[in-house]
Amino acid sequence: MLGLGIVKGMAVTIKHFFMPKVTVQYPEQRRVSAPAYRGAPALVFDAKTNKARCVACGVCARACPHGVIHVTGHTGPDGKRHVERYEIEIIRCLFCGLCAEACPYGAVKMSHEFELAEYRRYNLVYDRERLQGRAEPPSKIVAREVKVISARALAVKEVAQIR
Ligand code: SF4
Ligand code: SF4
Repeated sequence: MLGLGIVKGMAVTIKHFFMPKVTVQYPEQRRVSAPAYRGAPALVFDAKTNKARCVACGVCARACPHGVIHVTGHTGPDGKRHVERYEIEIIRCLFCGLCAEACPYGAVKMSHEFELAEYRRYNLVYDRERLQGRAEPPSKIVAREVKVISARALAVKEVAQIR
């Protein structure tokens, strides 16, 4: 029958109009990612000593299929290995998690961070400082991101008022 397709299509549209909404108003609203979600890799630091668990063994660098991990270290007077440089080229990272799986010390794990956009490519090489603190529980990350978003929204509002 002529026009039956339109009627069927409109029926679907009307049905969905009254159904509960499943979308969120990102970025104002945020959902907590699933526990198994793999975001950017992060270095795990000892909360008490603020020292990296990493001993610069280089296993993660060898496990990385893209070769984006650069790690160097030295053996200190205490006979222990200490990390000097630990960098990840996040721009080329696959978020595959092989580095976290390979690390025998649990010193690198996958965080829940996914908003990694930058204006400069060189900002996408993460050093130890930037990799630190990313291995937070998702709830903490969300709380921090909400703060950042609120601050950004406030700044945008202020700029709009000035104009
Ligand atoms: S993160 Fe783990 S695997 Fe990688 S260098 Fe450090 S201790 Fe070794
Ligand atoms: S998540 Fe994968 S690609 Fe990224 S640094 Fe780790 S091993 Fe390399």
